[in-house]
Amino acid sequence: MNSATGDSSAGPRSSDDVEVAVIGAGQAGLTMGYFLVRQGRRFVIVERADSIGSAWRERWESLTLFTPRRYSALPGLPFPGDPDGYPSRDEVIVYLQRYAETFELPIERNSEVKKLEHGDGGRFRLELGARTITADQVVVAMANYAKSGFLGSFTDLLTKFSAAPSPGLELPSPFEWGDVDEVRRRFSGRTSSLRLERGSVTFSFPSLDEGWAVWERTNPPLLALKSMLPAEHYQELAEQGKRLMREMNAAGNGRLVLDSEYLQVVARKAPSTG
Ligand SMILES: Cc1cc2nc3c(=O)[nH]c(=O)nc-3n(C[C@H](O)[C@H](O)[C@H](O)COP(=O)(O)OP(=O)(O)OC[C@H]3O[C@@H](n4cnc5c(N)ncnc54)[C@H](O)[C@@H]3O)c2cc1C
Repeated sequence: MNSATGDSSAGPRSSDDVEVAVIGAGQAGLTMGYFLVRQGRRFVIVERADSIGSAWRERWESLTLFTPRRYSALPGLPFPGDPDGYPSRDEVIVYLQRYAETFELPIERNSEVKKLEHGDGGRFRLELGARTITADQVVVAMANYAKSGFLGSFTDLLTKFSAAPSPGLELPSPFEWGDVDEVRRRFSGRTSSLRLERGSVTFSFPSLDEGWAVWERTNPPLLALKSMLPAEHYQELAEQGKRLMREMNAAGNGRLVLDSEYLQVVARKAPSTG
């Protein structure tokens, strides 16, 4: 099915070849869809989650927006309620769902784009697991509130090196940056409330060597691995870590600039029932 309320399923479909492919069904993707409908474009919005407004669903239930309803509306559909009042998280979720339905936006859920690359004839190719979409133009409408960036990639590298080199040796499992499920699992039953908020951060150093030196002095899982891994394994980890920094460096002037996301966790301790 290929509609605002439908799920994607395997097999070829008309949306596999479009004029425009929009990645993400958040505010940006839905707004783009609104204008593409008005222009009569042949397009598809692909969304990795099984619902619209997934970014909001992941946020805490009592969240109230800091933007009044009049500034929270998207083009073409007023936000219901007092325009000077502040909507709740759930109001936003309902509003975004209604927005997609009102304009019959062609959204395919459960459709995560794994790879975006240039295809033949100046077109784009979007890889979604077993399926490929070809498009003349692509709109990346996904805010970077996902687990990615340098911290996520560096954690993946540490995890790779955390396999114990010899039986009986326990190596620490690095904290999974930005993994909401992992945070919830670790805090489960230990707090009275848990608030998760995503943000982004930029690390900036005069050079790659200085950046790596700071990382080696301050990153707890890296420090632990340095003291526990055989020297040649750690050497290999250090080389791969520096290579990652080089690949993800956003600066071209000899400096090292790494962009990343993080998850701010505010956990309140459960009051003692003693
Ligand atoms: C705690 C908090 C409070 C906020 N409060 C406000 C507020 O009061 N007012 C305000 O204006 N803004 C607020 N914001 C910011 C607002 O949420 C974002 O600016 C907005 O959600 C960005 O919209 P977007 O469409 O760009 O991205 P998103 O809403 O993040 O949507 C991106 C979509 O892309 C999907 N996606 C990601 N990767 C892929 C992939 N590979 N393939 C397919 N789909 C993918 C995601 O599942 C998601 O549905 C707040 C943000 C936070 C974190």
